[in-house]
Parts: sequence; C-alpha cells; structure tokens
Amino acid sequence: MASHIVGYPRMGPKRELKFALESFWDGKTTAEDLNKVAADLRSSIWKQMSGAGIKYIPSNTFSYYDQVLDTTALLGAVPPRYGWTGGEIGFDTYFSMARGNASVPAMEMTKWFDTNYHFIVPELGPEVTFSYASHKAVDEYKEAKALGVDTVPVLVGPVSYLLLSKPAKGVDKTFSLLSLLDKILPVYKEVISDLKAAGATWIQFDEPTLVRDLASHQLQAFSNAYAGLESTLSGLNVLVETYFADVPAEAYKTLTSLKGVTAYGFDLVRGDKTLGLIKGDFPKGKFLFAGVVDGRNIWANDLAASVSTLEELATLVGKDKLVVSTSCSLLHTAVDLVNETKLDNEIKSWLAFAAQKIVEVNALAKALAGAKDEAFFGANAAAHASRKSSPRVTNEAVQKAAAALKGSDHRRATNVSARLDAQQKKLNLPILPTTTIGSFPQTIELRRVRREYKANKISEEEYVKAIKEEISKVVKLQEELDIDVLVHGEPERNDMVEYFGEQLSGFAFTVNGWVQSYGSRCVKPPIIYGDVSRPKAMTVFWSTAAQSMTARPMKGMLTGPVTILNWSFVRVDQPRFETCYQIALAIKDEVEDLEKAGINVIQIDEAALREGLPLRKSEEAFYLDWAVHSFRITNCGVKDTTQIHTHMCYSNFNDIILSIIDMDADVITIENSRSDEKLLSVFREGVKYGAGIGPGVYDIHSPRIPSTEEIADRINKMLAVLETNILWVNPDCGLKTRKYAEVNPALKNMVAAAKLLRTQL
Ligand code: GLN
Ligand code: ZN
Repeated sequence: MASHIVGYPRMGPKRELKFALESFWDGKTTAEDLNKVAADLRSSIWKQMSGAGIKYIPSNTFSYYDQVLDTTALLGAVPPRYGWTGGEIGFDTYFSMARGNASVPAMEMTKWFDTNYHFIVPELGPEVTFSYASHKAVDEYKEAKALGVDTVPVLVGPVSYLLLSKPAKGVDKTFSLLSLLDKILPVYKEVISDLKAAGATWIQFDEPTLVRDLASHQLQAFSNAYAGLESTLSGLNVLVETYFADVPAEAYKTLTSLKGVTAYGFDLVRGDKTLGLIKGDFPKGKFLFAGVVDGRNIWANDLAASVSTLEELATLVGKDKLVVSTSCSLLHTAVDLVNETKLDNEIKSWLAFAAQKIVEVNALAKALAGAKDEAFFGANAAAHASRKSSPRVTNEAVQKAAAALKGSDHRRATNVSARLDAQQKKLNLPILPTTTIGSFPQTIELRRVRREYKANKISEEEYVKAIKEEISKVVKLQEELDIDVLVHGEPERNDMVEYFGEQLSGFAFTVNGWVQSYGSRCVKPPIIYGDVSRPKAMTVFWSTAAQSMTARPMKGMLTGPVTILNWSFVRVDQPRFETCYQIALAIKDEVEDLEKAGINVIQIDEAALREGLPLRKSEEAFYLDWAVHSFRITNCGVKDTTQIHTHMCYSNFNDIILSIIDMDADVITIENSRSDEKLLSVFREGVKYGAGIGPGVYDIHSPRIPSTEEIADRINKMLAVLETNILWVNPDCGLKTRKYAEVNPALKNMVAAAKLLRTQL
C-alpha cells in the first residue's frame, strides 16, 4: 500500500512566500532573495513528505503565483500586450501577467472551481503561437532529486487548461478553445520528454474539469489529448487526477479508457457516486489513487471509516494497485496545526491541517499494509467521540430557530422601487451617487495597533482612540473627495469574515491557519465547530461613532451569512444550509440593532455567494434557494427607508442574475472591471433590473491609477445599458490592500468622472 499527496500549500507555515513576494514586488529585495525563500520552502515540503513516509510526492505544485499561470508560461501563451519577445519567461513578464504593471492591466483572475483560490485565466485565440517557454516543471523535479527526493511532477492537464481559458480580446466568443489542443500538445511532449530524461518515472496530470458537466465533444478532447501524448508518455506511469466532486458516469468511462494512462485519482470525500462507479467497473492492472483524506477542510479524518472504504477498494483493485491519497491538493487547507498555540486542546484534537493530513495518509497506507499504528488510531477514534458528544457543539435554542426557517419565506413587505423612493427622500443623493465598498488602506501603523491591542500591550481606551482617529481620517478624506455615501473604512477588521466569527459563538480561530486566495494573498478561515449565535452587538459601536463624525450617510458594514459560511471551514456533521440559517439569524439581529442605532444604509457583503455554487448544474437550484433565502432573512425586517446594499466580488453573474435579483437588495455593487464588462451583457440581453447597481468602475487588484476619462468611459458604457437613476459609481471592491498614494488619486478621478457625467445628463 502506497501513499500519495495531490499537492501541497506553497505559502509556508508562516506565510514566508507571501512576505518574500511582497517585498520583491516593492523593490525591497532581489529576485535572488525571493528564489532563496521559495527554494527553502520547496525543500522543507519535500523533506517533510518523504520523512512522513509518503511514496508519491508531488513537485511543480509550488508556484510563485498560480499553477494555471505557470502553465501559460510553460506554453509561452503570453498575451502580446506584455511585450514578451521569447526566451525563458522571467519574473517581469510573469508578474506583469499576474498583477499588471504601470502601463498594462493584469490578466483576468477567476475562482478555481468552488474553492476560494483564484487562478489567472489564459487568453487564447487562433493566432497564439505556443512554445516551451518555462522549464519550471523540470527544474523543480531536478531540484527535489538533488535533495534526494524522487517526485511525481504535476502538470495542469492539457484539456483542463483549455477548458479553463477564454478567448482573447478580439477573438470571436464562439472560437473553439479545444481546437488549440493540437498546438499545445507538442509543448506538453517537450516537457514530458524533459522530465523523462531527468529521471521521472511518474507524472501527474490534474484534470479537475472532468468532474464538471461536460459535452461529448469535450470528453472526446480528453481521449484525443492522451492518445496524442501516448507515445511520449510510454515508459512513464501516468496519473490523471480529478477532484472537487464525483466524476460523472460518462466522464468516468472516458477517463478510464484514456490511452497512455496508468492511474486514476478520485476525490472520495465530495459526492458519493464515484465509489459506485469504481465498484461497478475499474480497469484491470491500473492504479487507483483513492482520495479519502479531505483536502478542503481541517477536520481530522475518520480513520476507521477510511480504512473500511480502502479495504473494500483493495479487494477490487488489489493492494499493490491501491494508493491512499488526499481528495485534492492540500492547497485548500491550512498548513500546520503545530503552530496553533492558542487553540484549546479539545478543539485541536478534532483537527488536521496539511502537515497532519500527510501523516494520516501515511497511517492509512500502513494500516492497510498490516502495520496499523494502534495508538494513532485510538487517539483519532477518541477525538471523534469527543466531538460528537461535546456540549460546546450544541445549542438547542439555535437549532430550533434555524430549523423553523426551512421551507418558509422571508421578504421585505414593499417592492424595491417603492423602497428606493422612500430612501431617496431620506438620503437625497445626486444621480450617479458615489461610494466605496468598505475598507480603506490598512497601514502598517494600523495593523500594529490592532496587534498590540490583541496582545494586551495597549489598553482598550488607547485602542478605541486610535481606531476612532483612523475612522475620522477616512471620513474626512471621503468628505474632501466629495463621496456621497461614506464608509468607516473597516480599520478594526483584519478580515471580513474573521471579524464577525470572533464575535459569534460556535467559531474557533487559528493563529496561522492561512489558505492562499490569490497570488500572495491568503485568508484565515474561521472554523465553525458548533451552533452559531450572537452574544452581543458586533459593529454598532464603530458604525455609530463613524456616523457621528459626518452629516453624510454612513454605511453600516456587515458580512453576509453565505459569505461567512463559504469562507469558513464548515462543520460536516450537519448540512451546510443549516449552519447558514444559523448565521443568518445572528446577522439579522445585527442589522436590526444598526437600524435602531440610526444607521440608514447597511451593506451586507455577499462577496462569496457565487463561490458556494455546486459544480454540477443539477445541484445549483437547491443551493441558490437556501443561500438567497439566508440573505433575505438578514434584512427582511427593516423599514422601507433603510437602504440595504450588498456587494459581490467577481463577475460571472450572468447565469445567476435571477437569484441576485431575488436577493432583493436595494443596491448591489459588483466587481466588474477585470472581466471586460461581461456583467453588462446580461442587461443588454434584456434582464430587467430595478434596484440600484454599481458595477465597479476600476480594478482595485492592480496598483494602476485609472484616469478620469477612462472611468467616465466605463460609466458611459454602463449608462448605455442601465437606467441613469439606478447606476452607482464605485470601485470594484474594498481598498484594504492598496496604498493611499494609489487610492487618493483613483477616487479623485472616480468622483470627477461621476461629476462630469452628471453635467452631461
Ligand atoms: N467590505 C469589504 C471591504 O471593502 C468587502 C471586501 C470583499 O468584497 N472582498 O473590504
Ligand atoms: Zn469584493
């Protein structure tokens, strides 16, 4: 019985890579410094896995930004605007594609399946010429080998790569990306040959798109691709890895008949149908990589249950062909529980992060091979029993209240146009009102204040004073900029979910449980381990303080239940919707307290609503129904004159626009500018939208400062599709990660653009 890890987090146990990247981008350190940090991380990861006894250890799952961008580099598919002229792709070109530079915006970024990880979307078309332009895969393989670790190099599979790309600007939207298969296979052949020559005996292709609903011509592309690679792959063991859901029956057939492939990897945690397919028919003599250890969550594996699944599989495929694995790359879980000094021991005993999951995978493999570590299994069983019976997990009143919500409906009494009229009477805003999404830059000084308060180094009084000063600065700045609806800037928050989770019961927090979101950015998801309730008001103090500093409307700023759920590690002992309803009830209490305290505009961010969408169409309606219902629960009780805003990150809303309308918010601000205004096309196609809407007018993920003309131009494009009286003007998202030197001129230009257009309407 062997063991395998699909992929491993890159950031390091203390986010070493993040800090190295950011100081390199700031020009404070050299490429050499960055390379050194990265090499140390890779080496410690490989050694950790080999030390734990893992047989199939991945390489090339490290990335300086994103593995899909790495594949774009491998294929030399650099969009012409970055001015790359050939040769090996270096940091300059690579990071320009990822983040934009002074003269060119970044490539689009989008969610990696239903995770909170984001990849850089390849831009392809008939004119793209591909060439072998990054030797990273083979370099990493050799690097590990030099350290004495023989690894399985991992590549994003050719078909998933194409299915995840989009037609470049100017290319017909109907262009068949899969038609490029024949052009990219030669590059894949080159890298495979290189890896073989370097001594690789295994290779892993990640083809997660196989779990999606695919058309038959898309499935055919998999057959063609691997048939095309077959001769180059000969002599290698070839693993095609799938994850994040069941593999549909048709795709399973395609997968298990691929030419040149000797091993298949499945996610046996999400969905329960793949197991049936394997039992029904698994090709003789092939390897089964059984992903039984959850790569998406932080709960300790139920080892006894996994052993029984694995034993059953072993009788089907043979022990020598069964490999214990993770359900997906461990990129989507936290790095190492060892660094969690503040979690109490009971909760800690319920958990396993990436480093612990490696040990679990190995323990399972050993148990199957007859060398069961009784003490390890015993401790695991005891932890599971303690979690089941712990009184900290259950709150009966909450359970009852949430159960009562199921199957019922919650809506505001008046329709949105009447509400908007009532609100306008009260707020008296100009047309094209300007606002921002919530956060303002978080300076080093601000972070220091929060840190010192947390560590009890400064008193509550000093802390409140410092935060109030910060709020007052942000309020003054917005007044000077002449923004219409203000925000307090969120200086008291390090993270939009953690901030609320910390004040709710049923949540636990880690110190270093970071998970990569995009590039150098990480999130530290709270752990929802028990029933959720709100002991006391969470934001009223700061929001009322901020409102008292200005005569302009100040937005109350909350994170919505669906986003809190989707950005947390969620308990697996009850359905997700039940946990979501519990959170919705807590946020409802907060909304009502804000209203009572005189806050007339309340934004409830549902940045991650789309993220929870199941990968299969057939499961979407159920999710959207309870997710949208949860949002409405939070604000169905407010007065007509209270204006409810919501905000969502990333576009791609066209397919769920009806659900967004059904959320029945008064105003929605949506990220838009990095996606070629895809968003607007839905309105162009005639969807009636009567509520306020603010598609972001500039990209806050890039340091680039947009000009007034550019913003005015964008607003004009929006005005061509949307009614003047519902359009809002705002950036794409919060400004937390930007610097004031970028924010000040950008917002100044934004307000100038709105004012310019007001005079023309
Ligand atoms: N209100 C949050 C902020 O501005 C929203 C962030 C987000 O959508 N990711 O930071
Ligand atoms: Zn956002």
